[in-house]
Amino acid sequence: MAECEICGREDQLYTVEIDRAKLRVCFDCSKSGKLLEAPRPQAKIRAGPQFQERTARREKTEVDIVSDYGPKIKAAREKMHISRDVLAEMINEKESFLDRVESERTLPPEALGRKLEKALGIMLYEEVGVSSSPVSKGEKKGLTLGDVIRVKRKEDADEKEQD
Ligand SMILES: [Zn+2]
Repeated sequence: MAECEICGREDQLYTVEIDRAKLRVCFDCSKSGKLLEAPRPQAKIRAGPQFQERTARREKTEVDIVSDYGPKIKAAREKMHISRDVLAEMINEKESFLDRVESERTLPPEALGRKLEKALGIMLYEEVGVSSSPVSKGEKKGLTLGDVIRVKRKEDADEKEQD
């Protein structure tokens, strides 16, 4: 990360013209000049994971599928009174695949999830990563600690009900 040529802050740098001089400055300082070039998102960041995570959290809005996507899809489909094979046809997938998605045995790829959102008029994705806790891509497939705690609490509650 380079430093702003005016205030010295380490940030994404904008190329601006100030008093006929071309300077590489941070966003705040860029306001006092004529913008020539905005920073481009870096395609590949060659740095440690810590740095990558920090960058991702600050600059990117990631989306993650909602935790109850299966029941949500099923409920929306049933509300529309369409059978699973009809919905499967609408999104160009096999019924067996949709069955696995509805029972959460398969995590649908985002492209498919988006098709389901459109077909059913539901939201399957939520934004993560802006101000929420860091979520690394590797963790998305499994249960998060929060999920485990929720499941545990539910189990405890269920046990109490039985007593
Ligand atoms: Zn600056």
